[in-house]
Amino acid sequence: MIERSLADLARALATKEISSVELTRLYLDRISRHNPQLNAFITVDPAISLAQARAADERLARGEGGPLTGIPLAHKDIFCAQGWLTTCGSRMLSNFVSPYDAAVIARFKAAGAVLLGKTNMDEFAMGSSNETSFYGPVRNPWELNCVPGGSSGGSAAAVAARLAPAATGTDTGGSIRQPAALCNLTGMKPTYGVVSRYGMIAFASSLDQAGPLARSAADCAVLLNAMAGFDERDSTSLERPTEDYGRDINTATADKPLAGLRIGLPAEFFGDGGSPEVMQLVDAAIADYRRLGAETVAVSLPSMSLSVAAYYVIAPAEASSNLARFDGVRYGHRAPQYRDLDDMYSKSRAQGFGAEVKRRLLIGTYVLSHGYYDAYYLQAQRIRRLIASDFAAAFRQCDVIIGPTSPSTAFRLGEKAADPVQMYLSDIYTIAVNLAGLPGISIPCGFAGGLPVGLQLIGNYFDEARLLGTAHRYQQATTWHLQHPDQFDD
Ligand code: GLN
Repeated sequence: MIERSLADLARALATKEISSVELTRLYLDRISRHNPQLNAFITVDPAISLAQARAADERLARGEGGPLTGIPLAHKDIFCAQGWLTTCGSRMLSNFVSPYDAAVIARFKAAGAVLLGKTNMDEFAMGSSNETSFYGPVRNPWELNCVPGGSSGGSAAAVAARLAPAATGTDTGGSIRQPAALCNLTGMKPTYGVVSRYGMIAFASSLDQAGPLARSAADCAVLLNAMAGFDERDSTSLERPTEDYGRDINTATADKPLAGLRIGLPAEFFGDGGSPEVMQLVDAAIADYRRLGAETVAVSLPSMSLSVAAYYVIAPAEASSNLARFDGVRYGHRAPQYRDLDDMYSKSRAQGFGAEVKRRLLIGTYVLSHGYYDAYYLQAQRIRRLIASDFAAAFRQCDVIIGPTSPSTAFRLGEKAADPVQMYLSDIYTIAVNLAGLPGISIPCGFAGGLPVGLQLIGNYFDEARLLGTAHRYQQATTWHLQHPDQFDD
């Protein structure tokens, strides 16, 4: 059961091979046995999950089930869920029970999916290793001494260890794609504005976007179909006709299914940034794509080398503004003892935020302050525009861009924790995509030293369906995505 695709699970539920209550119990049981080792979940609440499963079973019995009705899903603890502790991985929100549902949560609820639990994450989604969480690090199911990636590391570890059939994540600079790569999953960041950010705790609002983390592109399409859609409560949500993100997946296969597809290979992705083992597997995947009929063209993204620097001005700037709301007054942590209002603010924030969050808030406040705004913030915005133009030029020559997702496989816990710049460089291949607002997906493409390697596919705006289809064709021809860590088989 735990290796079945979401479509197969939906069929098993529809034909009464299994009930949603049984399926939910199966996963709750796996969580109680394996989560202590992995620390992938912050909150599980079997009573709520099973009540939702019972409601799903009734809906299925009435013949009103959809593709996700009765399927348990794990959600990153960045999404507000009514009646659930919603911490964003922070001590600041360690006492916050959300009074309302985020748009993403509400959409899955409407689809009849079961909320299986809230997953661990880097504090306020700031990190690439899940080590900044107030709830402790998550371990990589492939190698427990290694990080699962971040910031959606709990979701990635949960799906990789089969503690959930699929999960959600958010991606501000790579936080869906990088943990997908490090845990052998398929993870997609959609075009900015496709999924509503309402009720998703804000980190850097011009970059944040939610997306699916699953075992295959086909599963990601099922999740994205439920997640995407206009929401007037998010001013950056896009009003577009509904589309089926699985449309390029559910078509008949041909001998050369990708004939006519032009894959762009940016010189900047194939320099000396990636480790040799990773680059070798990326090259092999590109050769597979040629066998599937795609042609490759050389493209260039000359400003990409500035993306990490620009991101670490823009993202902290936006974070410093967004996180100003955590002041100990309205909700969240309040210092138990203080002299006056100012002291209450500063003590509450000093106690509530961890070191990485404080570092970002200091950087963000600095770059936005009078005298530095032009030198740093405006300059970074100009670079952002150049990066977007680079992609626009590249997409005049190709349909999909391919490269590595992460420069290395999963690193050891603690290995980069003391060196923020090394940590920030984990995202050299993913951040430009967020700065440009484009969709990107990471898919498994092999193993180096027993650890998974991810291949990144980047599409033009709103090209999610084609990206998912391009990923799916590769997954039809290869078995990397089917590999799973065997220590959680029981
Ligand atoms: N690792 C990046 C950061 O620390 C991206 C995180 C994310 O995408 N949420 O900001």
